[in-house]
Order: sequence, then structure tokens, then C-alpha cells
Amino acid sequence: LSQLFRPLDLLGMVYRTIRQGVIDMGAMFDLVDTAAEVVDAPGAQPLHVTAGHLRFENVRFGYDPGRDILKGIDLDVPPGATVAVVGPSGAGKSTLARLLYRFYDLTGGRLTIDGQDIAEVTQASLRAAIGIVPQDTVLFNDTIGYNIAYGREGATEAEIEAAARGAAIAGFIEHQPERYATRVGERGLKLSGGEKQRVAIARTLLKNPPILILDEATSALDSRTEAEIMATLEAIERGRTTIIIAHRLSTVVHADKIVVLEAGQIVEQGSHAQLLARNGLYAEMWARQAKEREEALAAE
Ligand code: ATP
Repeated sequence: LSQLFRPLDLLGMVYRTIRQGVIDMGAMFDLVDTAAEVVDAPGAQPLHVTAGHLRFENVRFGYDPGRDILKGIDLDVPPGATVAVVGPSGAGKSTLARLLYRFYDLTGGRLTIDGQDIAEVTQASLRAAIGIVPQDTVLFNDTIGYNIAYGREGATEAEIEAAARGAAIAGFIEHQPERYATRVGERGLKLSGGEKQRVAIARTLLKNPPILILDEATSALDSRTEAEIMATLEAIERGRTTIIIAHRLSTVVHADKIVVLEAGQIVEQGSHAQLLARNGLYAEMWARQAKEREEALAAE
């Protein structure tokens, strides 16, 4: 019987953690898997982000012993740069992002932010410095204003509205009967995938983190919504170090650097133009997706 209760205990713990506002909503992604795995090092100090320089140094990781998912990743993300990680399904793209947020500890190598090893700083300070726009945004059964305000405790109404404007969702909210007091979720207004993602962007704008992880939704948005969201995302990337986990290559053409991951290793990296000229895996993926885009456009 105790087997039966354990998941409920864990859910209760997750719920209380969220209520206390201890963690960012981004931490929802895979939280249940990782709730108790990572602990602060003895005497851990807060992270001080000065420029936002990320370095993966020979990073190795596997979820299960004996099966490496990341096999020695070396990646330098200069302050303020946007780096996109692309590659086949299962290559380890999301895993890379989870390690930066320290959902798990590395099995080898180092991951530093402005020279500080993320395993040696407090988790709270690390997570305060990183904003995640996840694939699927979880909304609370509460008002849309509350759902945005979740990005930062104590945000004022004016700040919430500014964040909504920045995320291009203010117009939508202002057309609702009760504006920011309109309830969303199961018994309230249902938001589309694109609208939910804008709520996540608004939350992130309120949090105003120097480092950003964008985990692109796998489910295809229609091409107009995609173009609108892209413009909004490019706006919030400015001035922050950004890692985009991308499924659609059309969304990463603007990145400063594109990293192609295959079976846990970086097999190519460069700008969009450089990678096309290489005629390797990226060029092949690009050609395939371009064809799919044309077919989708013809069907719309
Ligand atoms: P996709 O494009 O499909 O999202 P990805 O490149 O982001 O894939 P990851 O999600 O990082 O890939 O997964 C890499 C590998 O790690 C996969 O083989 C996956 O099965 C495995 N994996 C992911 N999460 C876990 C977990 N919590 N426990 C065990 N294995 C996992």
C-alpha cells in the first residue's frame, strides 16, 4: 500500500514547493523525475552573473549508469549571444538545457557561468538567474494576471501589463470581459498553445533573467502564430545569453551560432550560412524541413 501513496506524497511536495514560490515554473519540466537528486554543495555561495558567459567543458551525462546521453560536450556561449541547439530526436538537446538549470549533476566535466561552476553555487541563485520558456506552459486555475505575476513575487499591476505588452498578449487580455482578472484554466478561458506560450514569455519578462532557455514547442503552430511568436522571442533574447532548443530550423536562422547534436555529440557548429555550405547533417535537415514547410503551406 505504501507504494501507492508515494507518488501522492511527491505530488504534495511538488505542490507545496510551487505554492511557496520557491521554484520557477520552468522547473515544472521534469520536476517529478528530479525532485530530490541535486543538493547544494557545503558552503555553496550565490552565483554572481556579471556578463552571462556560459561554458560547457567536456560535459558528460547519462540518466542511467552505463548509458551516456551526452558524451563530452564543449560549448562556449559568449555573453549576450544566442546559441541554438538542433539535431535528431533523442540527440540530447533538452538534456543539455536541464543540466544548465541543474536538474541533474554531471557525470563528468564542468559547466560554468562567468567562471563559476554551477555545481558549487546555490541552486536558488542559479535558478533565479535563468528563465525558461518551456514547451508546454502549465497554467494555474486562476486569473490571467496571476498567471503572469507568477514570474516575480510582488510585481505591480503596471509591471504585469508591461510584461503582457512585451509578450504581445496585452491586446488579447484587454479584449476579455474582466481583462487581467479573467480566469483561465479548466473552468475558465481556454488558451491556445500560442497564447499559453505568450503567458510564459510575459512571466519571463517579469523575471528579467540574464540567461534564457527557450525550449521550442514540438507541436507545430500555424505559420502566422509561429512568425508572431518568433518576433516576440527575438525581442526578449536581446541583451541576454540565450540557448534555444529547436525543433524547427526556420526558427534558428537568426542565431549567432547553431550547434548540431547527434547521439550526444556535437557534430557540426556554425552560422546558418556556414552550416548550409558544409552540406552535412544540418543542410540535410534544412532541405527536409523546407520541403515539409512548403507542403504545410500548400495545405493551410
Ligand atoms: P527531442 O527532439 O525528441 O525532444 P532531445 O534531443 O531533446 O529529443 P533528450 O530529451 O535530451 O533528447 O533525450 C536524450 C535521451 O535521453 C533520449 O534517449 C531519452 O530517451 C533519454 N532520456 C530523456 N529523459 C530521460 C529521463 N528522465 N530518464 C532516462 N532517460 C531519459
